[in-house]
Amino acid sequence: MKSAGVVRKIDELGRIVVPIELRKSLNIGKREAVEISLDNDCIMIKKFEPGCCFCGSTEDIQNFNGNKVCSECVEELSSASSK
Ligand SMILES: [Zn+2]
Repeated sequence: MKSAGVVRKIDELGRIVVPIELRKSLNIGKREAVEISLDNDCIMIKKFEPGCCFCGSTEDIQNFNGNKVCSECVEELSSASSK
Protein backbone atom coordinates (compact mmCIF):
# COMPACT_ATOMS: atom_id res chain seq x y z
CA MET A 1 0.00 0.00 0.00
CA LYS A 2 1.30 3.44 -0.90
CA SER A 3 1.85 5.70 2.05
CA ALA A 4 1.65 9.45 1.76
CA GLY A 5 3.70 9.76 4.94
CA VAL A 6 1.35 12.40 6.26
CA VAL A 7 0.53 12.51 9.95
CA ARG A 8 -2.71 14.19 10.90
CA LYS A 9 -4.42 14.61 14.23
CA ILE A 10 -8.08 13.92 14.71
CA ASP A 11 -9.89 16.91 16.17
CA GLU A 12 -12.37 17.08 19.05
CA LEU A 13 -15.23 16.02 16.79
CA GLY A 14 -13.37 13.08 15.27
CA ARG A 15 -12.61 14.84 12.02
CA ILE A 16 -9.48 14.77 9.96
CA VAL A 17 -8.48 16.67 6.88
CA VAL A 18 -7.68 14.45 3.94
CA PRO A 19 -4.46 15.88 2.48
CA ILE A 20 -5.03 17.85 -0.71
CA GLU A 21 -2.47 15.81 -2.65
CA LEU A 22 -4.40 12.61 -1.90
CA ARG A 23 -7.70 14.18 -2.85
CA LYS A 24 -6.15 15.47 -6.06
CA SER A 25 -4.75 12.09 -7.02
CA LEU A 26 -8.20 10.51 -6.66
CA ASN A 27 -10.00 13.49 -8.11
CA ILE A 28 -12.11 14.03 -5.03
CA GLY A 29 -13.63 17.48 -5.07
CA LYS A 30 -15.29 19.60 -2.40
CA ARG A 31 -18.46 18.13 -0.88
CA GLU A 32 -17.95 14.89 -2.73
CA ALA A 33 -18.97 11.67 -1.03
CA VAL A 34 -16.38 9.23 0.23
CA GLU A 35 -16.87 5.75 1.52
CA ILE A 36 -15.24 4.88 4.82
CA SER A 37 -14.53 1.28 5.69
CA LEU A 38 -12.42 -0.69 8.09
CA ASP A 39 -9.79 -3.12 6.89
CA ASN A 40 -8.18 -4.84 9.88
CA ASP A 41 -6.46 -1.93 11.64
CA CYS A 42 -6.78 0.49 8.75
CA ILE A 43 -9.51 3.00 8.10
CA MET A 44 -9.96 3.26 4.37
CA ILE A 45 -11.38 6.36 2.79
CA LYS A 46 -12.45 5.75 -0.75
CA LYS A 47 -14.03 7.92 -3.37
CA PHE A 48 -17.69 6.98 -3.39
CA GLU A 49 -18.64 5.36 -6.65
CA PRO A 50 -22.30 4.42 -6.55
CA GLY A 51 -22.20 2.17 -9.59
CA CYS A 52 -20.14 -0.56 -11.17
CA CYS A 53 -16.45 0.35 -11.06
CA PHE A 54 -16.01 -0.82 -14.66
CA CYS A 55 -18.99 0.44 -16.61
CA GLY A 56 -20.72 2.75 -14.11
CA SER A 57 -23.99 0.83 -14.25
CA THR A 58 -26.06 0.97 -11.09
CA GLU A 59 -28.09 -2.14 -11.86
CA ASP A 60 -27.57 -5.45 -10.11
CA ILE A 61 -24.46 -4.37 -8.24
CA GLN A 62 -22.45 -6.99 -6.40
CA ASN A 63 -19.49 -6.67 -4.14
CA PHE A 64 -16.44 -8.22 -5.75
CA ASN A 65 -13.27 -8.07 -3.61
CA GLY A 66 -14.43 -4.78 -2.13
CA ASN A 67 -15.31 -3.28 -5.49
CA LYS A 68 -18.78 -2.68 -6.81
CA VAL A 69 -19.25 -4.62 -9.99
CA CYS A 70 -22.47 -5.19 -11.94
CA SER A 71 -23.50 -8.73 -12.82
CA GLU A 72 -22.67 -8.17 -16.49
CA CYS A 73 -19.09 -7.22 -15.71
CA VAL A 74 -18.80 -10.08 -13.20
CA GLU A 75 -19.75 -12.43 -16.03
CA GLU A 76 -17.23 -10.80 -18.32
CA LEU A 77 -14.56 -11.06 -15.66
CA SER A 78 -15.20 -14.71 -14.94
CA SER A 79 -15.31 -15.64 -18.63
CA ALA A 80 -12.07 -13.72 -19.24
CA SER A 81 -10.27 -15.51 -16.41
CA SER A 82 -11.40 -18.95 -17.52
CA LYS A 83 -9.96 -18.54 -21.01
ZN1 LIG B 1 -20.40 -3.16 -15.06
